[in-house]
Amino acid sequence: GQGVAMVTAVAARLAAHRHLLEETLAPFQLNCQQLIVVQAQMREAMIRGLQGEASSLRMLPTYVRATPDGSERGDFLALDLGGTNFRVLLVRVAKGSVQITNQVYSIPECVAQGSGQELFDHIVDCIVDFQQRQGLSGQSLPLGFTFSFPCKQLGLDQGILLNWTKGFNASGCEGQDVVCLLREAIGRRQAVELNVVAIVNDTVGTMMSCGYDDPHCEMGLIVGTGTNACYMEELRNVASVAGDSGYMCINMEWGAFGDDGSLSMLSTCFDASVDQASINPGKQRFEKMISGMYLGEIVRHILLHLTSLGVLFQGQQTQCLQTRDIFKTKFLSEIESDSLALRQVRAILEDLGLTLTSDDALMVLEVCQAVSRRAAQLCGAGVAAVVEKIRENRGLEELTVSVGVDGTLYKLHPHFSSLVSATVRKLAPHCTVTFLQSEDGSGKGAALVTAVACRLAQTTRV
Ligand code: BGC
Ligand code: MG
Repeated sequence: GQGVAMVTAVAARLAAHRHLLEETLAPFQLNCQQLIVVQAQMREAMIRGLQGEASSLRMLPTYVRATPDGSERGDFLALDLGGTNFRVLLVRVAKGSVQITNQVYSIPECVAQGSGQELFDHIVDCIVDFQQRQGLSGQSLPLGFTFSFPCKQLGLDQGILLNWTKGFNASGCEGQDVVCLLREAIGRRQAVELNVVAIVNDTVGTMMSCGYDDPHCEMGLIVGTGTNACYMEELRNVASVAGDSGYMCINMEWGAFGDDGSLSMLSTCFDASVDQASINPGKQRFEKMISGMYLGEIVRHILLHLTSLGVLFQGQQTQCLQTRDIFKTKFLSEIESDSLALRQVRAILEDLGLTLTSDDALMVLEVCQAVSRRAAQLCGAGVAAVVEKIRENRGLEELTVSVGVDGTLYKLHPHFSSLVSATVRKLAPHCTVTFLQSEDGSGKGAALVTAVACRLAQTTRV
């Protein structure tokens, strides 16, 4: 009688909710054909960028021409700006070993988005503090600056910031040489001379640090706060740098892939909302579908939508879910961790201030999975385009190559890395790709770039 009717009504409501959930997540489920298109578009954009034609990929020369050969030695300072933390490091490169001491400093949002002078003054304050703590005051060790933003380089120690990305927006820096900005700040503080030898993108540092142990490492990949890749390209393919023989590492700046509209067929209304609310609307469209700074926001926007449909949280909109950045990417990693029971997932979400049923918890899990899965697959399609390009450059039937990887999302998420690998295996079947997780790619890598430069400078002087 009435009981049966109630059970039927509940079942019907659940079925309707499930249907709405699936409909909402469907655009995130990419099939192989779509990924092949992304790979092909990436490849075309790479070639246009290298030739200096209009392209969403800038394909920036880095003036790094070789990976380390193991003979590098010395003590170096390194700075790491643009990832999860700002750090100052002392890197000691000895025979067969690299020893790192580092100190994390915070960059308050008001400084990251204030004036350039303030930002660089703050950086110099941190360096001075580090030198004092480490007993290095008065020495001017060669310094490598890992600066994880798009820079137009004219040499190893010159980098003109093209535009800020991620959470940074300090005024008066775009179009300026970052090394000059640092030197000017040193002048203002009357701090000791710094000997800035190299400015290094974090992808390049990561490739170099893995290249120290593995000569097959010819690509660097970051999937952290932002995302990007670099690889060793044949110099003859790089229009903007003279010379036809040898290699140069190219910083692809693939976060900007799709900024010409080419990813619009994959972009959902949730991607559009995240983009619109960001400090750089219309920019870094690929990055906004992949990296840690944005995935939580995509999830949050989907949850808001599902709530408005009455599918989640009994249709109750809460203050909590309206709060920007409340959903950290760390939560995606935790929620998707296989060892966590749904009950614990619920506990994590309740910590955020959400009240949910077990059905809600399951749906939130599915939303997280859909978003991180798409991110990993898009990233894999990009890697496939790069390794295939390297293979064709060399005229090889089969290529064996290693990719140095760093970044919190790649390292902490329970499934991201295996999904990237699976996608690459599918899309680049003639490449055997090994992913190496770098240990402090930004710090060690910047020091190694600096070390290689110092080594080369010495040999030319002799
Ligand atoms: C920057 C890249 C950087 C990447 C990873 C992007 O937002 O444009 O230069 O390599 O983030 O940190
Ligand atoms: Mg980093």
